[in-house]
Amino acid sequence: MDRNLLYRKIPKVDSLLENETIRSLTETYGIKTVMSVLRGETDAVREMIRNEVSSEEAERKIQSLPETIAEKVERLYEPDVRRVINATGTILHTNLGRAPLPEEQALKTISAASGYTNLEYNLESGKRGERYDHFEKLLCRLSGAEAAMAVNNNAAALMLILHTLAKGKEVIVSRGELVEIGGCFRIPEVMELSGARLAEVGTTNKTRLRDYENAVSEETRAILKVHTSNYRIIGFTESVPAHELKTIAETHGLPLIEDLGSGVFVDLEKYGLTHEPTVQESISAGADVVCFSGDKLLGGPQAGIIAGRKQYIDQMKRNPLSRALRIDKLTVAALELVLMEYLHEEKAPERIPVLKMLLETEESVRVRAEKLCGMIRGEVSDAAVSVEACLSQAGGGSLPGEVLKSAAVVIRPYHMSVSALEREMRHMRIPVIGRIADDAVRLDVRTIGDGDFEAIAGMLGEVL
Ligand SMILES: *Cc1c(COP(=O)(O)O)cnc(C)c1O
Repeated sequence: MDRNLLYRKIPKVDSLLENETIRSLTETYGIKTVMSVLRGETDAVREMIRNEVSSEEAERKIQSLPETIAEKVERLYEPDVRRVINATGTILHTNLGRAPLPEEQALKTISAASGYTNLEYNLESGKRGERYDHFEKLLCRLSGAEAAMAVNNNAAALMLILHTLAKGKEVIVSRGELVEIGGCFRIPEVMELSGARLAEVGTTNKTRLRDYENAVSEETRAILKVHTSNYRIIGFTESVPAHELKTIAETHGLPLIEDLGSGVFVDLEKYGLTHEPTVQESISAGADVVCFSGDKLLGGPQAGIIAGRKQYIDQMKRNPLSRALRIDKLTVAALELVLMEYLHEEKAPERIPVLKMLLETEESVRVRAEKLCGMIRGEVSDAAVSVEACLSQAGGGSLPGEVLKSAAVVIRPYHMSVSALEREMRHMRIPVIGRIADDAVRLDVRTIGDGDFEAIAGMLGEVL
């Protein structure tokens, strides 16, 4: 067909704007947005005609222009950040947002956000308050520290500590503790950004008290201990515990800083896991300043918590850098609420999702996996579905080497490739993120809540 004839069939902007569908779009989303999508879509049709598509196809495109435009405009308004189901078994999955907050606390956080709060307002005095006031006392009570504050994340916390206490001077740190956390976060690089100079001591596997002692000079401003949170050096090793480092720090009048990585208040050993140093242990061993993440094993919002001696914390609060790294009101609200749960130490593991998932027994996961398996079998006809043992992990650079015996629902489709199923699952109404191994899709049930079972079974039923 004559191309010019096809061009003429493309409706004029004015007539498209008269269209019922487009009119209601304009009402909802505004003329500017609709016009820009409309122009883009009509240009795309022109382009197709120029590239000589068949006239049937061009006419079909022209016919469906209002619907195409509506779809595109509506997609612009769909939030891109969505809830997903974590079926990977990695509890602190950094790509999936790390720690899920307890539901009640998350709801309260949102409600604090939709109105004004006393974020930096002291209701007693009617004067300016501090955003840290809301959780500082709680943190002190839980950790035994004199003072506390929080910034955006633990990387920021470490940077603020070093910038405040050792800018332009030296900080002693063991070569066995120069951690890379991932996402380009390396302890030496953060230290450099803070303006502090690194005085590395010891070797990768062995650092002794003497090494620290020999490194102290007039330039030294602090001793730093970093918890090797995501790896473990085993075999012929030696490192110096905080309480021994404290003796050197005291002799020379230096602050002892400890970066704990994951902040735990609960003694995980009591629950059969390997010992993870708690915040209170670090403080009582003599650390003058400790820092840790809010969204690792603590199970709260993203934050970098700093606790320790008041003289140092006060200096950090006054450092202008803390203004650049400060936490927002949502985080303040969530952090206070989550920390409160730790006041009841025995109940915290039941109430905080991260701890609950971490401490669930193998038997309990298996029972739940059998239940999910039965529900999926009820909906799915085109795949073999079974329960198999698997191993979960804490993730997020926590509890290195700790594997948790778990159970997975294993799906082997009859007429679809495993990778195609995995892709389908990512595109479901609630995306399900699983793992592929041994030519099957595996859903580790440790990180899946019972409340999602029905949705998972239903959605899989539509695909298989
Ligand atoms: C995870 C980790 C950090 C970084 O914490 P973020 O909260 O992710 O910024 C710093 N130090 C150690 C030892 C860690 O394990």
